[in-house]
Amino acid sequence: MQITSQTGMLGLIGHPVAHSKSPDMMNCACRELGLPFVYLAFDIDPQELGQAVEGMKALKFRGFNVTIPHKVAVMDYLDELDESAKEIGAVNTVVENSGKWVGHNTDGIGYLRSLTEEIAVQLDQQRVVMLGAGGAARAVGFALATAGVERITVANRTLAKAEQLANHLAKWVKTEAIKLDEAQSHIAKATLLINTTSVGMHPNTDQLPIPADWLHAKLIVSDLIYHPRETDLLAAAKALGAKTHNGMGMLVHQAAEAFTLWMGQRPPVQQMKKVLEAALTASD
Ligand code: NAP
Repeated sequence: MQITSQTGMLGLIGHPVAHSKSPDMMNCACRELGLPFVYLAFDIDPQELGQAVEGMKALKFRGFNVTIPHKVAVMDYLDELDESAKEIGAVNTVVENSGKWVGHNTDGIGYLRSLTEEIAVQLDQQRVVMLGAGGAARAVGFALATAGVERITVANRTLAKAEQLANHLAKWVKTEAIKLDEAQSHIAKATLLINTTSVGMHPNTDQLPIPADWLHAKLIVSDLIYHPRETDLLAAAKALGAKTHNGMGMLVHQAAEAFTLWMGQRPPVQQMKKVLEAALTASD
């Protein structure tokens, strides 16, 4: 793609961002659709967040993504939040709309699209146990709760955070909060187990968030981690004959949803997946 004086700007702000595969996916989508945009990653110190956002506004970015640690703090610099950002309490996508800068959160819908694309799942029959109660859990929990799952049990190392999230999700669905080490009997009755903790993520790949013998063959086991593509949790579930789902699809679909908000058209998701796979393999 030729960069000219007409080329539009998209980007990512985070700290750090050097590991991010978003530029690979987003620039692939722009190229494939022949859209004259470039997407760059910017490492922004927390104390410079406001200046960075004002700079992007002045430079007339079409929009930008936001990652850790700016997903909450960026809200102070935006004009509006959509429902997803308000309910999740964090922003991962900002869109310029008639001069207003609007915060969205596409993590939850990205997760849901990935899950339903990869696994034939009847959402309204799912008894969900979600391990973890951090930012990713808030997004996934909101998406599942508003999609109408039967029940969500939030199991977290820190009980107070599980209680806070379960109370919030109770607006839409039956919920309960438990400590992570009390999850065994709940998992025995569950249909969908989701690991939203960072346990098992590179470089600590030999760790599991729960003992492997708490898993069973009737579960769908979903892990938000994508590095490695198959965590030890997913490997143990697969060995039992359970259906498994990893975090790659969520990463692609949250990006695809952000792209659609900026461009008003769906990007080529399969091409983005191929590019992501290649980028992850290159950094393994
Ligand atoms: P976060 O807000 O920091 O939350 C981390 C969660 O993990 C908390 O519930 C924390 O429990 C729990 N945890 C951390 N270390 C633990 C340990 N040793 N034992 C038990 N629990 C532990 O992080 P996040 O943004 O939600 O991200 C969580 C994971 O999701 C990461 O692996 C991230 O890469 C992944 N993720 C994937 C995608 C995707 O697109 N696939 C998107 C977002 C996030 P406490 O509350 O007790 O600290």
